[in-house]
Amino acid sequence: PKEVAFIGLGAMGYPMAGNLAKTVGKSLLVWNRSHEKATKHASEHGSTSVQNIEETCQAKVIFTCLPSSREFEELIFQIQDGLVPGTIIVDCTSGEPVATQRIAKALLERGTQLLDCPVSGGPGGAKAATLTAMLGGDPQAVLQVTPTVALFAKKIIHVGPVGSGHAIKAVNNILNVTHLMLASEGLLALKKMGVDPAKALETINNASGRSLQTEQRIPNCVLTRSFDYGFKLGLMNKDVGIAGRLLEEYFPEAVLLKAAQQLMLQAVETQGSDVDYTEVVKALEAKAGTQLV
Ligand code: NDP
Repeated sequence: PKEVAFIGLGAMGYPMAGNLAKTVGKSLLVWNRSHEKATKHASEHGSTSVQNIEETCQAKVIFTCLPSSREFEELIFQIQDGLVPGTIIVDCTSGEPVATQRIAKALLERGTQLLDCPVSGGPGGAKAATLTAMLGGDPQAVLQVTPTVALFAKKIIHVGPVGSGHAIKAVNNILNVTHLMLASEGLLALKKMGVDPAKALETINNASGRSLQTEQRIPNCVLTRSFDYGFKLGLMNKDVGIAGRLLEEYFPEAVLLKAAQQLMLQAVETQGSDVDYTEVVKALEAKAGTQLV
């Protein structure tokens, strides 16, 4: 049997699988919905591309990195009959905790462990193998896959039972985009007052209001107008929705993150799902009637 398979060679999956191939080479089976990405991966990274998804069932550990739990579940329906007992599926999708728990239960009845393993660090971190991985699930299975996950992640945390990785990831991402919107609102007000946003950022980044967004995302992707971080607004909105449902269930009195969720919905309406998530700032600029640069 082959060691590892990777399904879903998108902005994240392609470089993550690239780092797996550096160690396991041809023993890595790669599958992608549009097959040409898999053949490109095989020639660029020395992996083995497969055309039929059932072929990935030869692997002991199957990684997945798809847009959402919906595509993940569809895919599980396609491969479940071919799964060999003892297989571990490691889902790097930023998924929905409740769906993950339900799918995990069904898979366990077939002798397959499902671990959620969402990651943070973006396409750059995926390429540099410096991602943070948040693993949820059976401790024994987590131990078994950790050396493989370590091929693309620098920090690996076993966060709890299956589904908890996906829950933390959703909260992480709503914080990410909320920090971006918070800083942008403040900077837009300063701009209208006549303060240079670049000067304001330089100051804030040496003061207590700074965040990853003020230190990296706004200078690198917004002030340059490149809006090219590599994470789609629609995918961010999906994560914000997951966090919103979590808040609705466990802390419906929360105010700030719910407001952020509303702003995100408006941004997707005006900017579309396929633009970079940093374009959420464009929606705020339109509201303010000015641009940061
Ligand atoms: P992309 O849109 O770049 O890639 C999506 C991948 O899923 C592609 O391989 C695509 O195949 C495949 N896919 C889409 N629909 C289906 C389907 N119905 N059946 C089978 N395969 C399908 O997304 P990302 O790589 O950016 O994101 C993947 C996951 O990682 C998401 O959950 C995202 O939220 C998360 N994430 C993203 C980060 C980022 O910075 N980009 C950072 C951390 C997590 P095809 O090539 O054929 O379209």
